[in-house]
Amino acid sequence: MDGGHPRVVDATPTRRSQPRSWADSRRPHRPNYAEAVRIDIVTIFPEFFSVLDVSLLGSARKSGLIDVAVHDLRDFTHDRHRTVDDTPSGGGAGMVMRPEPWGEALDAVLTDQSTVVFPTPAGRLFVQKQARELADREHLIFCCGRYEGIDQRVIEHTRTRAAEVLELSIGDYVLNGGEVAAMVVIEAVGRLIPGVVGNPESLVEESHEDGLLEYPSYTKPAEWRGLETPPVLLGGNHAAIAAWRHEQQLERTRRVRPELLPPA
Ligand code: SAM
Repeated sequence: MDGGHPRVVDATPTRRSQPRSWADSRRPHRPNYAEAVRIDIVTIFPEFFSVLDVSLLGSARKSGLIDVAVHDLRDFTHDRHRTVDDTPSGGGAGMVMRPEPWGEALDAVLTDQSTVVFPTPAGRLFVQKQARELADREHLIFCCGRYEGIDQRVIEHTRTRAAEVLELSIGDYVLNGGEVAAMVVIEAVGRLIPGVVGNPESLVEESHEDGLLEYPSYTKPAEWRGLETPPVLLGGNHAAIAAWRHEQQLERTRRVRPELLPPA
């Protein structure tokens, strides 16, 4: 990262700036894995998303697997102070994001084939199964709330226009804004887009893929600070290794996340 304006920001919030294959498509799912997955992010803090320049997602963007544009919500305001919030109707503490800038921002990026994600602690819990489903979409839009959240009419109105609208929580705690939550979803989804992770085999045995947590991993040296790698992993007996790993998955899931196991 260069410390300047993040490269992921595409400040032109018009459909004309989108590739034809995305803007002109009428299909809900990505028809062909050769096409980039389009991700639009609307936020009052575009700089949060400079992390999309690094690591696997940065490479995926460079190689054209993912096409990201970050839009500053304040570009869709019309007053001198670029106001995006106001006091809550009915009273109460905090501020609520006004619907007008959100409406205009969504007008600029939405098609009837878009999947729109509103991160919110009041949403359904985001899990791996959903990450897998979202990796199949051709256009994802993330709407990052701040303050007490976004005027609910924005979500209701978007439901009448988009292919799919999801209110997703990344966990039972409250963040200051939707940016980090959106990044969590983008990273979980992005790594499942074919081609993003070099060896797809490495995605198969991970935690949550088969309802269990992953077994513990070891590498060389076989002994480190008096601690040994379990001997079964060094014996070369693949059936024994698979059995040991499965047992470890069950034991770890039982101990750490018993609610993931089917009722006995
Ligand atoms: N007043 C809201 C409530 O109690 O449900 C919390 C608002 S929070 C301070 C501001 C924004 O952070 C939300 O609009 C949402 O975009 C984001 N956010 C906070 N916690 C989140 C979570 N657990 N999952 C997803 N988004 C979250």
